Amino acid sequence: MKRAIHTDLKSLVLRELREQLHGLGEPEYRAGQIADWLYKKRVDAINKMTNLPQPLRKRLSETFSVGNIELVRILGARDTTRKFLFRLGDGNLIESVLIPASLALYGGKSDRRTICVSTQVGCAYGCKFCASGLEGFSRNLTAGEIVDQIIGIERATAEKIDNVVFMGMGEPLANLENVLRSIEIINAEWGLGIGARHITISTSGLVPQIRKLAEEPLQIRLAISMHGATDEVRNQIMPINRRYNIEALLSACDYYKTRKKQRLTFEYILIRDVNDSDAQARLLSRHAQRLSAKVNLIPYNTVSGLPWARPSSSRQDKFLSIVRAEGIPATLRREKGHDIDAACGQLRLRTERAAVTKTGS
Ligand code: SAH
Ligand code: SF4
Repeated sequence: MKRAIHTDLKSLVLRELREQLHGLGEPEYRAGQIADWLYKKRVDAINKMTNLPQPLRKRLSETFSVGNIELVRILGARDTTRKFLFRLGDGNLIESVLIPASLALYGGKSDRRTICVSTQVGCAYGCKFCASGLEGFSRNLTAGEIVDQIIGIERATAEKIDNVVFMGMGEPLANLENVLRSIEIINAEWGLGIGARHITISTSGLVPQIRKLAEEPLQIRLAISMHGATDEVRNQIMPINRRYNIEALLSACDYYKTRKKQRLTFEYILIRDVNDSDAQARLLSRHAQRLSAKVNLIPYNTVSGLPWARPSSSRQDKFLSIVRAEGIPATLRREKGHDIDAACGQLRLRTERAAVTKTGS
């Protein structure tokens, strides 16, 4: 009960912390001390912030708390993709994925650990192949709940995370305000101190928000979930394409490109007999050329209850070779997390379904 009416201190950026302290008639340097407790020493309660005067701790506790998400399950071994299931304060479940160094594809260097964070409980965009959207949308995550996925995994594994990708459950650009706030905390020296070039947002193509993001000063990376090179194919699997078609999406990307130095990435899941033809590969290359984007091909991860499958290895290789022959930098990411339901949304779905079966409801 307490948690619901208290604001998580980890949902505030330093500027807002300062304003709050100012409002309490406290010196602003206290904000820096609090940030230090939250992100460097990582305490789980205001009362443990021992260099704050006791009366201030008490007053802060009337309005704020140190949010905490509870780690309920880990799947996978240390040198493979691992999945972490968290329970939020209100009982909702979310998941994050930790990708070991050898598989890290974002941010460049290969010796880096990448975390894939969720931004929403469920997803409202309903892509036909995705487990996250299957049970609809519940709510946005707060900035603190996004940041806590990183802190929670670093705590559980004693490993330092170098790259953050917003590719877990949910559509990050539909929760833009909290996502930007979390990015400020993740990036800032007073926060987690992860460089902007090591932070990637993935979107299914929310055109107005891509333009808005282009105006943000941070040099974070952007990945577009393309998954089809024509409206005909994309309409079949991604309902968002009926609102913002490929031309609208590419023109928002053109604009984004004029404002940012970082190369865009096209994510492209290969789904058998849906989007894996030679013609799609050639058209995808043309779109990538227009934007100087690189292409990440991902063989589809099967989701129980959905009819889609991944193409054969030889078809995957052929698709890759066409894109490369067109001069586009491209990778084919052979998922190692197949056996742990590594695609976003799958672990939560399975856990919830198991819970339903157990209680018989
Ligand atoms: N909503 C955002 C970010 C979360 S999804 C987006 O759509 O971009 C992150 C990536 O995982 C997307 O590229 C998505 O298409 C992909 N994905 C979803 N389900 C998948 C599956 N079953 N197999 C492989 N990739 C999947
Ligand atoms: Fe939502 Fe992304 Fe899944 Fe589409 S692929 S349903 S936008 S999480």
